[in-house]
Amino acid sequence: MAKASNIRLKVLKAVRSVGHRYDRLRFVSMLFSLAVLAVVPLCGLARVDVWSGRHFLLFHEAPFKHALAGVIIGIAAMYVVTFLSNVVAGRMFCGWGCPVGQVSRFGEAVDVPGLKWKQRLRAETEGALFSAAFVLSVMAWWVDPRVFWMGSPAAMAWAWGMLTVGVVGAYAHGRWWRWEFCKTACPIGLYYSFVSPAKWYGVYFRNQHDSCIECDACDNVCPVDLAPRDLMAAIPARGGVSIADAPGRNHCLECGDCIRACERMIELKGEGPVPLLLGYHDGPQRIDREKALTAEQGQG
Ligand code: SF4
Ligand code: SF4
Repeated sequence: MAKASNIRLKVLKAVRSVGHRYDRLRFVSMLFSLAVLAVVPLCGLARVDVWSGRHFLLFHEAPFKHALAGVIIGIAAMYVVTFLSNVVAGRMFCGWGCPVGQVSRFGEAVDVPGLKWKQRLRAETEGALFSAAFVLSVMAWWVDPRVFWMGSPAAMAWAWGMLTVGVVGAYAHGRWWRWEFCKTACPIGLYYSFVSPAKWYGVYFRNQHDSCIECDACDNVCPVDLAPRDLMAAIPARGGVSIADAPGRNHCLECGDCIRACERMIELKGEGPVPLLLGYHDGPQRIDREKALTAEQGQG
């Protein structure tokens, strides 16, 4: 595991020791994502069934070609919805709605230092269950789920085999590849980074001279190694399929981890207000370190 992610895990440990509104928000957004992914095929809005050949479109049985067109249109429609959200709020879907990102969260929850064996087992189980739910909802687009218990021995072996491979793959991704995938390999993330940095809604930094205690928790917790206080700084090439020399804003997942860490640090210090926020902003800010130094010297 990279050194940077060890630092993130230490900050996460401190931050997650108290509940936070983002836990509930993330649970709801992820539930919604998985529900949309599962409901479309399960209700027969669009599904191709490679097992029994009973394909569906608009809740009725349909020829294969029509059902396949429905599946493609359904996937494209989901893409358009997430794209529109990205026009307003950058890669917020990556931070809040993408099941692959959530798999990474479950994967790293196992590595948070100081876990008792029961906590670790719980984290492992949650990760495995979420991975299974994700893989099942993807499979539901292509096969009637009844194949798992009503199929011929060969069909059941095929279905259970696919599920096992998918769960092991998703789980392994969360344990080992994790955010590196979002940073350097995700083609959708790359596309969003190009076309829609969060222009109006997202993480922003305010009040740097009054309230930032320079604890660096926000930098250390960022899963994709950004500087949340300075998202307009250009990020050099990060390898893989990521873009080079674009502002950090383009890469930001708007996941809110930096804000959560910031809120906790400010709370522990008894200071305020919180300098990092998630919301509407009138343009990303840059840290003017010289100005900050001058202001501090002026006060001293
Ligand atoms: S800058 Fe903050 S919101 Fe953006 S990816 Fe990093 S931790 Fe998440
Ligand atoms: S976490 Fe908050 S207080 Fe700490 S350095 Fe970042 S912005 Fe400043």
